[in-house]
Amino acid sequence: MKENAWTTYSEKDLEMLEALMNGYKAFLTTSKTERECAANIVDMASRSGYVSLEQVIKTGTVLRPGDKVYATLMGKMVILAHMGEQPLTEGVNIIGSHMDSPRLDVKQNPLYEESGLAYLDTHYYGGIKKYQWTTVPMALHGVIIKKDGTCVPVNIGEGTDDPVFCISDLLVHLANAQTNKKAVDFIEGEKLDVLIGSRPLAGEKKNAVKANILKLLKEKYDVEEDDFISAEIEVVPAGAARDFGLDRSMILSYGQDDKVCVYTSLMALLAQEKISRTSIALFVDKEETGSLGATGMQSRFFENTMAELLNACGQYSELALRRTLSSSFMLSADVCAAYDPLYGDAFEKKNIAYFGQGVAFNKYTGARGKSGTNDANAEYVAKLRRIMDDNNVAFQTAELGKVDAGGGGTIAYILALYGMNVMDCGVPVMSMHAPWEICSKSDIYETEKAYEAFYKDC
Ligand code: MN
Ligand code: MN
Repeated sequence: MKENAWTTYSEKDLEMLEALMNGYKAFLTTSKTERECAANIVDMASRSGYVSLEQVIKTGTVLRPGDKVYATLMGKMVILAHMGEQPLTEGVNIIGSHMDSPRLDVKQNPLYEESGLAYLDTHYYGGIKKYQWTTVPMALHGVIIKKDGTCVPVNIGEGTDDPVFCISDLLVHLANAQTNKKAVDFIEGEKLDVLIGSRPLAGEKKNAVKANILKLLKEKYDVEEDDFISAEIEVVPAGAARDFGLDRSMILSYGQDDKVCVYTSLMALLAQEKISRTSIALFVDKEETGSLGATGMQSRFFENTMAELLNACGQYSELALRRTLSSSFMLSADVCAAYDPLYGDAFEKKNIAYFGQGVAFNKYTGARGKSGTNDANAEYVAKLRRIMDDNNVAFQTAELGKVDAGGGGTIAYILALYGMNVMDCGVPVMSMHAPWEICSKSDIYETEKAYEAFYKDC
């Protein structure tokens, strides 16, 4: 194993590290949904001089080196571009991460009353161990879009005076049958219903608790029960991101997969000054459910935006677009598994990421014989190694875990369809997809440095 990154830091490094962590924690706490995350990215980019690509198109502005633009789709996908000196057809440097995280989505027809208790029925999103999501405080985040198009934002459970919610679980005293089940059956998906009330509305005979909830929703948000049909409300763990460990060397938070790569790539792009190749940060949705849908990586939005950028530079043709895409370099910025000694058997110790060893490169992902993987080209891997060494970035290489122990994927293979070089590269995470995930601050710091070096030197 290489030297632990912590032991290499100067006072100045530690200062910069903590400054990055403070920004990161604040970002995590206010970016729990993909919509919140996208809005925060656009806000931070705007304050750094990024302007809307839509405006650029409308006004017929010609983009020049040094110009910075952003494009968004449905408030759930964001593309930032910092225009470089070289023509786009020489290729661009892209870092792509995802803003969606596992959670429980409130169903279209969710509200019901049973035995004097009111519940919201949910459908879980992404891969979760369902039993981890019971009996922890949860918050409701999202939007309700009314029939007239009005958007009612919802955010309950984060303020110190806010109520919180949770999913109950059977008391251990009566759980003999339940605890003898396999862990996958232990909590059924349909039992992930959120308890939201128990107080009846005075004078109401039937479903009085539900009636009271509807009255509160009407008073606070001016919405009706039917408005759940066009709502996107996500049930997420309540509470802020925090320092973790007696030595404060780690961060505990919901949604670090993949907001840790979102934030570090955003910071890396905003830190760029004069650049030779155009630098792009891609922030996508729907990675956890297969990258489908208009705001997922498989959507044409990225390609269309590249066409618009070429056009705004006066360089567009179908062939120019193909050349731009195929000569680009990409880092698929996603988290990987951190070695957990409590479950050491799941990992192969020579090829797994460790806390304190820096940013992790995954040449390939996949399952059952690398199935579904991108598998980066060795020449590209060599180029990235060189850039990391030249810029003093602590890095490690890793696989998700032991061969045939399981598997996973990222958005890497989708960009590789254009014939571009793509490599997975991100922060190791412990307890991935649990309500509260753990990352090492030094790995986050090194990842930000890695992304800066990639934009500058690749
Ligand atoms: Mn991920
Ligand atoms: Mn994930």
